[in-house]
Amino acid sequence: MTLYKSDKLDGPYDTIVIGSGIGGLATAALLAKEGQKVLVLERHYVAGGFTHTFSRKGYEWDVGLHYIGEVHRKNSILRLLFDDITDGALQWSLMPDVYDKISFGPAGEESYEFVAGKKQFSEKLQNYFPDEREAIKKYISLVSEAAGNSKNFFGEKALSPAVGYLASPFLRSKFLEFSDQTTLQVLSKLTKNKKLIGVLTSQYGDYGLPPSQSSFAIHAMIAKHYFDGGNYPIGGSSQIAATIAPVIEKSGGKILVRADVREILVDGNKAVGVRLANGDEIKAKKVVSDAGVINTFGRLLPEKISSRFNLQKKLLKVHSSLAHICLYVGLRHSTADLKLGQANYWIYPDYDHDENIRRYLANPEGPLPVTYISFPSAKDPSWDKRFPGRSTIEVIGFVPYDWFKKWEDKPWMKRGEDYEAYKEKLSERLLEQLYRFVPQVKGKIDHYELSTPLSTRHFCNYQNGEIYGIDHTPERFRLRWLRPHTPIQNLFLTGQDIVSDGVTGALFGGVLTASAILRRNVVKDVLARTR
Ligand SMILES: Cc1cc2nc3c(=O)[nH]c(=O)nc-3n(C[C@H](O)[C@H](O)[C@H](O)COP(=O)(O)OP(=O)(O)OC[C@H]3O[C@@H](n4cnc5c(N)ncnc54)[C@H](O)[C@@H]3O)c2cc1C
Repeated sequence: MTLYKSDKLDGPYDTIVIGSGIGGLATAALLAKEGQKVLVLERHYVAGGFTHTFSRKGYEWDVGLHYIGEVHRKNSILRLLFDDITDGALQWSLMPDVYDKISFGPAGEESYEFVAGKKQFSEKLQNYFPDEREAIKKYISLVSEAAGNSKNFFGEKALSPAVGYLASPFLRSKFLEFSDQTTLQVLSKLTKNKKLIGVLTSQYGDYGLPPSQSSFAIHAMIAKHYFDGGNYPIGGSSQIAATIAPVIEKSGGKILVRADVREILVDGNKAVGVRLANGDEIKAKKVVSDAGVINTFGRLLPEKISSRFNLQKKLLKVHSSLAHICLYVGLRHSTADLKLGQANYWIYPDYDHDENIRRYLANPEGPLPVTYISFPSAKDPSWDKRFPGRSTIEVIGFVPYDWFKKWEDKPWMKRGEDYEAYKEKLSERLLEQLYRFVPQVKGKIDHYELSTPLSTRHFCNYQNGEIYGIDHTPERFRLRWLRPHTPIQNLFLTGQDIVSDGVTGALFGGVLTASAILRRNVVKDVLARTR
């Protein structure tokens, strides 16, 4: 990873990728494997997008990765893709069988465990809800069916829009039957048991919308993704960019950080390069944007191009996903001393997630609608060697961006005392939750700091602090233009907005974009290279 300076450029480049999230890096690596010279430009001072880590006072935290499913199965497509784009250098550690712990009630009076393995998960749920055996079995089969149909649905996106249009009825219709319904609509047909619905949707924070608003398709894809348990990248999430970079470099490409793209250069109807904030212009045959569709269509294209192709009008149909606060906690004790487990905690005041949110928005002093606690140092087998005698915890809550809007024009670290006081108040609420559920850490915290939606905006360029790109509503999956090809020739989208949120969704975004550029199914190439 190199700091941008114009003398670091050694074009001509085949492709420029804007943004070094996993979507951008995967596109770059897959193109590099085909011999392309790719330049990845990242505005942050570190590569990786939401997979970057940051360090403070002798601790290190992940920003946007707590667990990933499926990669422990060496022949899963996901694992083979990661192996391919990292030349096998990225290693994973499988979490224990219980990977998510769910609690309901002010003090977590009622709790449930999500266990790895579809059969085990099903049996465990049937033990919790013995009267709901049939509903649970039907639920698991519907999740598998909906997720199974995603392959064709997203595969269509790699085709050119015209060919895709013709193939659309065959490739998309089955998936749309699921994606057109909300999660609540589907689950309400299976059961009237509100507690069961609350438990089945308790990972909704992984895709950001409660059951009455989320498309059942995203619920199914995420639920299925974790059916077999969770994994953590050994060495932390920064290892993702660190292990992909050499693959990009092998073909003469590179990742340059502190390279803020201000405009995509368009000649006639063709993207021909980018202009950076410092005025430098860099040309390439193709431009790929991993900066999110709202940034790409709304902020990076010249006004006249955007109006020629009605892009602003398109953007009226998508909405930013939710924003979050995260308390990064450091402790001068090992995870073993503190007896920290690896399972993530999902904590809810009540089973009705929609109602929890409604109540909180009406009364922000009331119970937090969801608190998520993750223990990265416990998940990483290399942690104790890298940070002996220390451990870390992350405590996350969801908040509307609007609550922070009044400080959005103030510079980072200088947003004023009222902002700091507000942050402290929110930190205390998250600490209260932490002490309630992990009481042994009380009195042992050495350092904590809170990120807000303004941190996400500042570091990752999401203007509303959104963490999952655009919202995963039923309407989203109807938008055919959320695909690699754009109306501008040689300009392509990638990342979470063209598939789904999650490291996996964004990585598959990279696969689709590389396939669209190379005009063939790169999964086949990956299988040929890795099997
Ligand atoms: C708190 C949190 C927890 C999460 N937990 C998990 C989890 O446990 N498991 C999981 O699978 N997923 C998780 N996710 C989601 C996952 O991290 C994201 O969905 C995924 O990483 C998005 O990848 P991306 O490539 O689409 O975009 P991003 O990672 O957002 O990358 C986009 C990049 O583009 C850069 N950029 C933007 N504009 C410009 C510009 N003008 N010039 C240059 N560069 C630019 C940004 O700085 C950024 O680096 C989490 C996310 C968050 C925030």
